[in-house]
Amino acid sequence: MKVIIVGGVAGGATAAARIRRLNENAEIIIYEKTDYVSYANCGLPYYIGEEIKDERNLTLATPLSLYSRYKINAKVSHEVIDIDPINKKVTVKNLKTEEVFIDNYDKLLLSPGAKAINLKFLNDYNNVFTLRTVEDTFKIKEYININNVKKIAIIGGGFIGLELTENLVNLGIDVTLIEKYESLPIVDYDMSSFVYNHLTSMGVKVLLDTDAKDIIDDSFDMIISSVGIIPNNTLALKAGIELDSKGSIIVNSKMETSVKDIYAVGDAVSVKHLVSGRYQIISLAGPANKEARVAADNICGLDSQYKGSLGSSVLKVFDLTVAKTGLTEKEIKELKYDYEKVVLSPSTHASYYPNPTPIHLKVMYDKNSKLILGAQAVGYEFVEKRIDVIATAIYSKINVLELKDLDLCYAPPYNTAKDPVNLAGFIIDNIENKIVKQFYYEDIEKLQENSDVILLDTRTPQEYKRGFAKGFINIPLDALRDNLNLLDKSKKIYVMCHSGMRSYLSTRILTENGFDAYNFSGGYLLYNSIEKMKANR
Ligand code: FAD
Repeated sequence: MKVIIVGGVAGGATAAARIRRLNENAEIIIYEKTDYVSYANCGLPYYIGEEIKDERNLTLATPLSLYSRYKINAKVSHEVIDIDPINKKVTVKNLKTEEVFIDNYDKLLLSPGAKAINLKFLNDYNNVFTLRTVEDTFKIKEYININNVKKIAIIGGGFIGLELTENLVNLGIDVTLIEKYESLPIVDYDMSSFVYNHLTSMGVKVLLDTDAKDIIDDSFDMIISSVGIIPNNTLALKAGIELDSKGSIIVNSKMETSVKDIYAVGDAVSVKHLVSGRYQIISLAGPANKEARVAADNICGLDSQYKGSLGSSVLKVFDLTVAKTGLTEKEIKELKYDYEKVVLSPSTHASYYPNPTPIHLKVMYDKNSKLILGAQAVGYEFVEKRIDVIATAIYSKINVLELKDLDLCYAPPYNTAKDPVNLAGFIIDNIENKIVKQFYYEDIEKLQENSDVILLDTRTPQEYKRGFAKGFINIPLDALRDNLNLLDKSKKIYVMCHSGMRSYLSTRILTENGFDAYNFSGGYLLYNSIEKMKANR
């Protein structure tokens, strides 16, 4: 069997190695158009920021090492320019010698990845860069060094934009981050406020709700555009492979395309989202690697299926960690789920052990099926572990109420006896059992205009003095029982505290005393974070 693989990085190199492990006799050829195979795309921003210092660490393998260990023939600087699926041939161009030749295959695997979207107005500038490959990385680094770059505009507040922001700030460069949406699109509006505020505290100028066209001018020494990707589908189109409306290659669960003996994986394909069931691009390294294994298995005659992805992802923004899995609230709304959400900010380890930090955790679930739809977390330590637990819960389709039952690790340096995931489960249990009713940030403006409700802040007077939401009166939790007579029982009471814990206790006191009370999900921490983001915009 002769297998040709187009693209020799996350999907391509992984598939090649798996094919070899399954079939010692297969002839395996990788054609890769850049000068490198098996490079660490995910490490590229950290090389620019000099966190990774040795450029040799950017590649996990070389053509030589792939040949010596796996007898894989990896040809770099070779671009596949055409496919003839009827005669099972590819046309290849050696980009160094310009030589064009034909090669034949029994099985063909496409893992050509995606390319950066190009904003037309940037064609007027000659200092614009994008980041996808090792070569892009060297170009960026060289330009910074040769031109003594001091001021950079980054367009797009997604994963790559944010990783570049951190790394360029660490080089002492003045970074302006421009984002067209009203918040950073990596997580929902509310959770992204924590990231926004952290970025501004690190000296980054973040412009939200802003069209880059209105900002970009000659005052920037350099512009990096990271506004998203489009699948590399030219070859697939030429081969008559079926694409979806967004131009991604359509594959089945065996990673087979619509054309016999041609498989495809990675950023170029759309895969099933495990919550929504929708097919979409999930441009992440984990899915690309798993899809590659499945494709390799099937190429070698095994029966493997790729079940789909949750889009679980994690991002470092200076010392902050941001992670998510499943659907965002925006997607949940678009898909018209009848959903409930909780936002909590517990400590990531016991308060008596030095330096506890909060983790902001948001969990969303379907009110009817009680299945978890998505979760997001922002904090300083052990953030992604909570999201990984919830990703496993989503995959296993456990009832959201079972989050409270998960038996998770605890010792003071690592956790509290009630893990944040358990705590989310306790809150959800209270909601489902009608022990607690909630209200959210998006309700506050209307409540502030309504004179028929009572807005109550149950933090201490000292905390209240440092800042409070308009219209909220202060009765500290510990004084609440003695001051119930000040509150009008005929009015609904909306209660806020710092993180949601004391307001929960307050709503219990109020409810037990015959009041109709609601707890603010997320606490003043969340409220203040969003308000700060809005005020700075
Ligand atoms: P790629 O790994 O991009 O490989 C495709 C290769 O095919 C490219 O080298 C391309 O040059 C080559 N090619 C294309 N067309 C042809 C042709 N016609 N002939 C020959 N060769 C061709 N994901 C995460 O999960 N976590 C992260 O932290 C993360 N960070 C990232 C940071 C950066 C800067 C980038 C760019 C991506 C990051 N990703 C991350 C995404 C992840 O790297 C991709 O999802 C993954 O690499 C996709 O694998 P792939 O094989 O589809 O494409």
